[in-house]
Amino acid sequence: KARTVLLATEKAFAADAVAKIQAAFDESKYTMKKLENYKSKDELLAAVADVDAMIIRSDIVDAAVLEKAAKLKIVVRAGAGYDNIDLKACEAKSITAMNTPGQNANAVAELVFGMMLTSARNNYDGTSGFELVGRSIAFYGYGAVARAVGKLAAGFGMVLYAYDPYIPKDAIKKMGAEPVDTVADLFKHQYVSLHVPLTPETKESINKELLLKMPKGGTLINTARMEVVHEAQMLEVLKERPDFCYLCDVGFKAQEEAKAIVGDKYMKRVIFTKKKMGAQTVEANNNAGIAAANQIVGFFEKGETKFSLKA
Ligand code: NAD
Repeated sequence: KARTVLLATEKAFAADAVAKIQAAFDESKYTMKKLENYKSKDELLAAVADVDAMIIRSDIVDAAVLEKAAKLKIVVRAGAGYDNIDLKACEAKSITAMNTPGQNANAVAELVFGMMLTSARNNYDGTSGFELVGRSIAFYGYGAVARAVGKLAAGFGMVLYAYDPYIPKDAIKKMGAEPVDTVADLFKHQYVSLHVPLTPETKESINKELLLKMPKGGTLINTARMEVVHEAQMLEVLKERPDFCYLCDVGFKAQEEAKAIVGDKYMKRVIFTKKKMGAQTVEANNNAGIAAANQIVGFFEKGETKFSLKA
């Protein structure tokens, strides 16, 4: 049966990845429609009307979108975090939702190190910085991205700790990190890197109380989600602790205020990328995009549901 797939990306994939996704659908004789770099939700609402499947990135798929998508059977988030999909609304309409776990982990991990080095070397301003070797890094969540960061950290000679209650402690150990018992235990270490999904449990879980426990030069790295950090309290910590650094790839509403607090220490004490640059590499676009296309074809042709998400 001929299927139509919508590639709906408010932030477009690299052209190379789009060509590869197209090729995957051509092979299965599926039609691919593109809605890239769109500016209003109305464009998305119009585009979903006649499609059987969708590939999205950070695009919001809520009840309003599903309402218009009369033929939709499956939506695949090309990427890891899926807090942009209303899973309950999908379930109510018997629409399968999937993500493509692990496909962008290395891209995010390399960005983490880029930010750490920029900060440790004082944004290359001519003054003496410090080396990462021998320093400790603690991971909140030890999934695909954390483990990819862990591999690089081990290469840099860092010491690794992790908190992830959903992974047995001996498995965490086997994957190179020392398991810790509580979230608070992570904050004994110089670097804390966030790799949890945004859930009711993790939302605003990183607060002033935890951050003030960090040792001198304490640095929080956030490539997870903006909302995991309590933003107002982060500003207070930046004010109260002139040694504390926040390296952030996932957006920060009060960026200008944070920059004003750190003054000329911008890029040492705070780094704000242009939001979610972590997965923006040609390799990650290819990996996640092709995986999404293959998962859609596998779903329709073979009934594969391996990466289905539960509400
Ligand atoms: P993953 O699913 O492989 O890993 C998430 C881990 O978090 C899992 O091991 C899970 O057990 C653990 N976890 C869940 N709730 C927890 C809790 N309350 N406490 C401790 N651990 C908990 O996902 P991933 O690929 O490693 O990605 C992690 C997150 O990073 C994603 O959910 C996404 O929000 C974000 N991300 C951002 C970018 C970016 O561009 N900056 C790219 C990829 C992923």
